[in-house]
Amino acid sequence: MSKPIIATASLAGCFGCHMSLLDIDERILKLIELVEFNKSPIDDIKTFTKECDIGLIEGGCCNTENIEVLKDFRKNCKILISVGECAIMGGLPAMRNGIPVKECLDEAYLDGLTVGENKEKIMPNDEELPIITDKVYPLHEIVKVDYYLPGCPPKADLLWEAVVALVTGKELDIPYELVKFD
Ligand code: SF4
Repeated sequence: MSKPIIATASLAGCFGCHMSLLDIDERILKLIELVEFNKSPIDDIKTFTKECDIGLIEGGCCNTENIEVLKDFRKNCKILISVGECAIMGGLPAMRNGIPVKECLDEAYLDGLTVGENKEKIMPNDEELPIITDKVYPLHEIVKVDYYLPGCPPKADLLWEAVVALVTGKELDIPYELVKFD
């Protein structure tokens, strides 16, 4: 019998949510028995090769490439899950949302104390670079999201319980202690 297929991605995040998934420790062996991984940094598959059952995404959208990846996930995954505060509400990267983009770029590349040597005042502008968006968007403001797993990062046990429930059809009964919102 074919296994449910999972894909994962990190957009404007820190990979902490992926690290939390790996924190299920030896249960990762059980996970591999239960599911097949497709596009994901975990197996380094870079493009979808099959339609997936579940897409887990950490990080919000801070540039045009993030939006493209997110739309690709929505197209290729039957169920899409926002994992962690960055995906759910923008998280730390969204601290820039109250500041005009030009001011952020000036601080990052020209004026900031940590800029170092940039005597020619060069701002990165290669046409292959993604374009930064006016603000950092949570995933549900760009596409339909089916489920949300909160936390920064969500606890490993929460990720485990949620994924197992979804792939086995088991009722999701999460104890309150497993859910955190910080
Ligand atoms: Fe990192 Fe927290 Fe954002 Fe997850 S929610 S990507 S752990 S900052």
